[in-house]
Formats: sequence, structure tokens, C-alpha cells
Amino acid sequence: MQFHTNGFIPGDPDVSVAAPDHRRAGDPLPETVDVLIAGSGPAGLCLAAQLARVPQIHTMLVEPKLGPMEKGQADGISVRTMEMFQAFGFADKVKRESVWINETTFWNPGTDANLRRVARVQDVPDGISEMPHILINQARVHDLFMDIMRNAPTRLEPDYGLKVRDLKIDPNAQEFPVTVTLEHTAPGREGQTATVRANYVIGCDGARSNVRNAIGGALHGDAAHQAWGVIDLLAVTNFPDWRKKSFVRSKDEGILMVLPREGGHLVRLYVEMDRLGENERVADRGMGANDIIAKAQRILAPFTLDVKEVVWSSIYEIGHRLTDKFDDVPEDQVRTRSPRVMLAGDACHTHSPKAGQGMNVSMGDTFNMGWKLISVLTGRADPSLLHSYSGERRAAAKGLVEFDHKWARVVGAKSEEDITDEGLPRVAREFVNNLPFTCGLTIQYEPSALTGAATHQHLATGFDIGKRLHSAPVIRLADAKPMHLGHCIEADARFHLFLFAPAGDAGTAGGTVAALCDWLENDPASPVRRHTKPGEDVDAVIDTRAVFQQEFRALDYGDMPSLLRPRVGRYGLCDYEKVFCVDAKLGEDIFTMRGIDRAAGCMVIVRPDQYVGHILPLQARDALTNYFSAILRVRG
Ligand code: FAD
Repeated sequence: MQFHTNGFIPGDPDVSVAAPDHRRAGDPLPETVDVLIAGSGPAGLCLAAQLARVPQIHTMLVEPKLGPMEKGQADGISVRTMEMFQAFGFADKVKRESVWINETTFWNPGTDANLRRVARVQDVPDGISEMPHILINQARVHDLFMDIMRNAPTRLEPDYGLKVRDLKIDPNAQEFPVTVTLEHTAPGREGQTATVRANYVIGCDGARSNVRNAIGGALHGDAAHQAWGVIDLLAVTNFPDWRKKSFVRSKDEGILMVLPREGGHLVRLYVEMDRLGENERVADRGMGANDIIAKAQRILAPFTLDVKEVVWSSIYEIGHRLTDKFDDVPEDQVRTRSPRVMLAGDACHTHSPKAGQGMNVSMGDTFNMGWKLISVLTGRADPSLLHSYSGERRAAAKGLVEFDHKWARVVGAKSEEDITDEGLPRVAREFVNNLPFTCGLTIQYEPSALTGAATHQHLATGFDIGKRLHSAPVIRLADAKPMHLGHCIEADARFHLFLFAPAGDAGTAGGTVAALCDWLENDPASPVRRHTKPGEDVDAVIDTRAVFQQEFRALDYGDMPSLLRPRVGRYGLCDYEKVFCVDAKLGEDIFTMRGIDRAAGCMVIVRPDQYVGHILPLQARDALTNYFSAILRVRG
């Protein structure tokens, strides 16, 4: 991380200097805001954490609960989400606090009806990511985003005790066209209302979203008519795989999943409960924690389960649902107006918790949305950029809903249908096949203005255009630090342009990288010059970095072109963190690992949300200019 860029500041570097006009706790509600976020779940907080870092954006987050969540709901964090946490700066903290899921086991009844372990598989395939698959309480994830918000220049805090009741959009208003009716929920103020006008309203208000209803959206899909119990508990058991993720299928009592949790003792169980009638609601059965425990004991028998403390429990019914559009603009009006209201997370897609995706996909939605909103609200991009949010994320959510449907059927299959071949029961085999999906790594955005065509994919076969950047180890030249290339990407709405140097290029004058950097820095036709406002740091919008094929002692930092040694901040201090070399010491050569053409090198454009936007030859200056012109405004 970099700090002291604008002068020495003592104390915790995670705490930014406060913006002078930030709202303080207890201040009256504002009349207008740039962005009003409904809901402080993972989707809302992930968005708020990004916006809070931009002092000129006024954001408000309303939440009907009276304080932060303490326990319950989701707990699965995929490797892809951990990569995203790295960009927020708290992946290491999560790694320390959480339980890592390394192995998953499968238990079936044997011939004597006693349970036996029939398979054990590695949970995260080797080399798929530098991050682990972990489990942690959703409330801790909330805390980590809220730490970012309250330490950001805007010192953003949720406004608890307030919910969005309704909203209206004035299609003729240019400024603050969305009028939001807020309703107080705190004791003594229930039902009182207030009005706030916003430029954008983001519905992160869960499956029963009022924001979705207000824009005429509806969730379509089906319910499985099967009740499930989820329970977090502290217990003593002789079941041997209590600290492994385990699928347990009993002969006659149904199935359960064991999910070890953070701290070494806590465990979550998902337990198959009763079938529901066609028109029956799960609440009608009046089931509670004792029913879940009794059922879990029957499924796990003859192993024992002695529950010492129930931390949290819930009974739910699986539904797979999706809205038609994640914003307020009907398809036939896309050309004439831009979104003012957008939906994210459970407000626009719901699925079963079995694949552990709900929290991940919800945060993925607002990580996709955050940089787009920031780009629009800071004048870097036209508001039409926001159309890409619904297009990209609805496709991702649709893939999840379809996958979840399939997976729920596999998990719910009766044991006699669970035919074994290749030495693995069907559920274990499907589990292994689905790992790239459940790791969150299969999302690939379709070609569009943001995602280039695959014309030059052969220049870097390990960086799939449209997929997230698959990071690899490098050595930073200036201080010889071994690190992951992807870890220089922060959640700060900047694009990244990685120049992979051709063989023999040492960054010196006359070489390909130096010539390209000179053009990028000085030619008015280059995207760096076109899209960076006068007075902004040269890397404020497009952050250019280079990776060389030599090991670090073979290169001289002083030879690097000035774009790779930019002067930043109010003192014009040098940014020493733009140049990297292969990690020859560990033998981990990023050029080999990611299939980069050694003779030609290439440019890899990475979007602010860590997805590969395009791959181009180092000479393709016009194509580079065209890529950014389709996304960003000319401000140079
Ligand atoms: P949510 O986390 O649902 O957050 C929505 C927020 O909006 C809430 O804080 C809510 O209070 C607030 N809100 C509601 N109405 C309004 C309004 N009108 N205006 C403003 N704010 C509003 N997933 C699992 O993987 N495993 C589980 O065991 C599991 N259990 C769950 C149990 C419950 C009771 C619920 C509700 C969800 C559970 N989930 C579980 C799903 C998982 O938590 C979600 O997929 C995930 O939290 C989605 O994040 P989100 O931010 O979209 O929505």
C-alpha cells in the first residue's frame, strides 16, 4: 500500500484524512445525495466502501435494522471474492480469521446402514488462484467493509432505522431525478417519513426489495417445496470430519452438510427438513432450532451430536429467482436514457445457499457497478456506461441460477440414484467438475465496449479476455519485493494497462516499451493524455505498469521511461511501484505461467473490477485508443 503521497501523516495508514464537508453521525438527513443505497447487506456495503473513498461523491446508505448484523446468514467466500477482498486491502485479515476449506468429504450409508466416508476431494484445484476458499460469518464481512467506509475521507456510516418505502423518477429532471420516500423504523418513530432526492438509487435491499417493486421489477422462478434448516452451533461429536466440509447422506433421514467455521470450534449445519406442499410456506410448519438438531442427530447416527450452544438458526425454502432487468430502463428505451435506479444482490437474484454463492455474487454485482458509478459521477465516463451493469451481471446471475438448480437436484438425489462410477459417487464427481464455477472463476463477460474481441488472445493465453485477471508472482524492480502482480490493483476505479515486454527489452530508450510509454505519456492522441484531466496524476485514470522478462538484478530502475517512474501527489514524489520482473528465484515465470508471447510481448488492459478488458499487440496504438474512447470521456 502507498501513503504519505501528499505529505507525512502519522498513525494508522488505513485511516484517510477526512473530507471537510463529510456528514457526521446525528446530522439531519440531507435533501439531496448523489447515490442512495438501500440496504446494508454485502451488496450495499461493498458498493458503499468503494464510493466512500471518493470525497466528491455524496453517498447515503439506509438500513431498516437498528444496528449492524452480529451473526447468521451467509458464510461462504469463494477464491474470486478473496481476490476482490485483496483489492479492498483486507484479504490478509480474512485469511487470518477464517477457516480455510481445503478438503471436502462425502458420506453415504453402507450396507449395514451405518455411515461411511465414500470420497474425499481437494476443495480448491491447484494453481486456480493464489487465494483460499474460506468460511466466515457474513457479519464480519460487513464489519470489514464498514471499517473502510468509516476510515475513508467521507467517513460514511449507515443510516440505521430507515428504509426505502417508495421512489419516483422524474424523466425530465437532469439533477436529482429520483425522489425517495424513506420510512423510519426505530421505536417511537415507526411510520414517520422523510424525502431525499438522489441522482442514483441502488436497491441492495434483499429478496423482498422495495426498490425493485418501485421500478416495476419482479423475481421470476420457482420454489423447490423443500424446507431446509441452517444452524450455527458449538457441539461435541464423534463424527470424524467435523472440521472438513462434508456432505452426509443417511439411509432414510435425508442429508446434511457440515461446514466448519472460523475460530476452530464453531460449525454450521445445513439440514434437509420436510417436504412442503404446493401452496405451503415454510413458516407454516413452525419449525425451529430443536427440530433442526433432532433431524441432524438422526442423519448423523450412529455418530453422536451433543449441542452445547445454538448461535443462530433459520429455516428456509429454496427458490431460484431472477428479475428481467437490473435497472429501471426498459429494453426499448436503452438508446434514449441511462439508468437512474439499479438493483444488486438478492434484490434481483435468489438461489439456494448450498453452493455458497449468495454473498459472493451480491458483492460481485456491486464491484462491477462501483467503478462505473464513480466514473460517471466524477465526469470520466458518460452515464450510458451504466447500461453495461445490467447486461453483464444479469448474465452472471442467470448462470448461477441455472447452476444452482442443477446442483440442488444433485445434492437432493436419493442415495439409490447416487450411482458410483470412476470411484466417486455422483455428488462428489459433480462437485469436482463444478469447482471452477463455485470458486467464482467461470464468469466471462461477452464481447462489448468493455470486453475486446479475442483477436489477440494468443499473445497471452493464460489471461482470458472477459475473465478476471489470473494473477501470478513477480518481483517489483525498485525494491526487489516478491509479490503478486494482481495485488497492485486496488478498488479505486482505475483501469490498469500492463505492458509485457518482448524478449531483450530492458526498458531503455529506443526499446518497444520505452517508445510506447513515451507515446502514452506525451502524445495528445494517447488514451492516457485524452482521458486524464489536466492537473491529475498521470496514473489517475489509466495506471500503466510494465513486466520485464529479465530477473530484477539484470535491469536498472533508472533506465525506465518516465511514465513508469511517475511523479505523483502535491510534492511530485516518485511512484516506485510500476515496474516488475519475473520471479527467477522461485522459478515462477509469469510469461510461462500465463502463456505470454515472449518474442512479441503484449498489452493487457485490466478493468477496475479486475476483469481482463482486452489484449493487444504492443504496437496496436490505435486499437488501444479506440478501446478507451468507447468507455471514457475526453478530458485531456
Ligand atoms: P441481504 O444480505 O439480504 O441484505 C439486504 C439488506 O437490506 C438487509 O440488511 C435488509 O435489512 C435491508 N433492507 C430490507 N428492506 C429494505 C428497504 N426497504 N430499504 C432499505 N434496506 C432494506 N446465504 C447462505 O449462503 N447461507 C445461509 O445460511 C443463508 N441464510 C440466510 C438467512 C436469511 C434470514 C437471509 C435473509 C439470507 C440468507 N442467506 C444465506 C442469503 C445471503 O445472506 C444473501 O444471499 C446475501 O446476504 C445477499 O446479500 P444482499 O446484500 O443482496 O442482501
